[in-house]
Amino acid sequence: SGSQGQFKRVLLKISGEALMGDQGYGLHPPTVERIAAEVKTVHDLGAEICMVIGGGNIFRGLQGSAQGMERTTADYMGMLATVMNALAMQSSLEEQGVHTRVVSAIPMDQVCEPYIRRRAVRHLEKKRVVIFAAGTGNPYFTTDTAATLRASEMACEAIFKGTQVDGIYDKDPKQHSDAVRYDAVTYDEVLQKRLKVMDASAIALARDNNLPIIVFSLDEPGGFRGILSGNGTYTKVHG
Ligand code: UDP
Repeated sequence: SGSQGQFKRVLLKISGEALMGDQGYGLHPPTVERIAAEVKTVHDLGAEICMVIGGGNIFRGLQGSAQGMERTTADYMGMLATVMNALAMQSSLEEQGVHTRVVSAIPMDQVCEPYIRRRAVRHLEKKRVVIFAAGTGNPYFTTDTAATLRASEMACEAIFKGTQVDGIYDKDPKQHSDAVRYDAVTYDEVLQKRLKVMDASAIALARDNNLPIIVFSLDEPGGFRGILSGNGTYTKVHG
């Protein structure tokens, strides 16, 4: 429709925990469905959408290595967790009529496509939502870094980081009533003040590629679409 404003192609990053609802673990199907519906409303605007979903609702490498597992093995388990989340999201999006491809940094042909950059670009051009699974394919990274990497490769205008709060605050707004939300912060401020947005390697990569990060609340119905149409509250991380 062309009414998506300044954003033609974006990457939505959500943590695995965003999919677990009020449960302490795993996938909560109604929550997956709700987020898929938010994605659909943006897709309906005509925007090209990439997604990266974490795996923390199922497994994190650090958690495994704290229990004595070899770090690299634990990280591979974490990457596999992101594939499960990606498949759940694909299933829900397709249920709602949105064509979707899961592309994995670790090839697993029976399950999904391998990541091939030019093919992924083609999917986007055909208005398929592309979910990038298995992180970067390397241990010692996070899905935040994978999001920054893929958004750069796909030439996205911005990363939309969906969280439980509507931006970045000077302190935790769930614990301090006088916490102040930033409208905009620089990459360097995020690094220097150790603001909890994304890990340092993801922020540094975004900075080096001049990729804005828009931190917003996924709990706000219509929030994702609102920001793409020029409304709503968020914090922009920029140069
Ligand atoms: N992971 C990894 N390499 C990557 C991305 C992820 O090894 O490129 C592993 C890592 O163990 C991580 C887990 O996958 O803890 C799940 O990803 P992440 O912690 O980023 O998930 P989120 O916190 O966003 O749910």
